[in-house]
Amino acid sequence: MHYKHIDLNQKKISLPIGKVVCVGRNYADHAKELNNKVPEEPLLFMKPNTALTHFSDPISIQHLSHAVHYELEVVILIGQELKQAQKEHILPAIAGVGLSLDLTLRDVQNQLKSEGYPWEKAKAFDGSCPTSFFCTQKNIDLTNLSLQLSINNKIVQQDNTRNMIFDIVSLIQYTSSHFTLLPGDIVLTGTPAGVGKLNHQDMLSASLHDFISLTTSVC
Ligand code: ZN
Repeated sequence: MHYKHIDLNQKKISLPIGKVVCVGRNYADHAKELNNKVPEEPLLFMKPNTALTHFSDPISIQHLSHAVHYELEVVILIGQELKQAQKEHILPAIAGVGLSLDLTLRDVQNQLKSEGYPWEKAKAFDGSCPTSFFCTQKNIDLTNLSLQLSINNKIVQQDNTRNMIFDIVSLIQYTSSHFTLLPGDIVLTGTPAGVGKLNHQDMLSASLHDFISLTTSVC
C-alpha cells in the first residue's frame, strides 16, 4: 500500500496502518442539513485501511458513477492501545492530529440508510479516506481547533471543534468502550455543515488552525 502515516516533515511515523474509525453526525448543524436527528450517543462506523490515501494525491472520481461528497474532518492518530480506557488515558495515547476527507457516495448511502443496511459500500471504498500529515506536538488543545475547507476558492465548510456534540476525548473513550483501538488506528471525528458534491477539476484547500494547510484536486 502506498499510504503511510507521516509527520509535518513528511517523515514516516513508525506506527502501523490500522483501521479507520469514523463518527457520523458530530456537529449539530451537519446533522440538521442531512435531516438527521442529533444523536444521544456517537454513531460509529469504520473504513478499512485500504481507504487511506495521502491528502495531496489527486482524488480520482472517474470510476465512481455516483455523487461523491466531501466531508472534512479532524483526524486523530492513536499511539497506544486503548481498551475500555479511562478518560485520563486518552490524551497520552494520542500520537497526532490531522485532517481527513471522509469521502461518501451520498446516493448509495441514502439508499442503504433507507433500507436500514450498513454503509460500507458508500463509505469504505478504496481511496475514500484522503488523510494529511499528523502534527505530533503534545500540547495541542483539541477542544479549540478551527477547520476549514474551500473548493475553487469558496469556503464550503468552516467550524471549530468546540462545536462538536461529543468532544474528541469523549469520542475516543466511547469508541474504546466498544472495541479496542490499536497503535496506528485513526479516528475521524465528524464533519461540520456544508458537505457537498465533488466535481472534476475541483481544487480543494483545507486547513486546521494554523498547523495544517493543504491543497488537492479532483481528477
Ligand atoms: Zn464523516
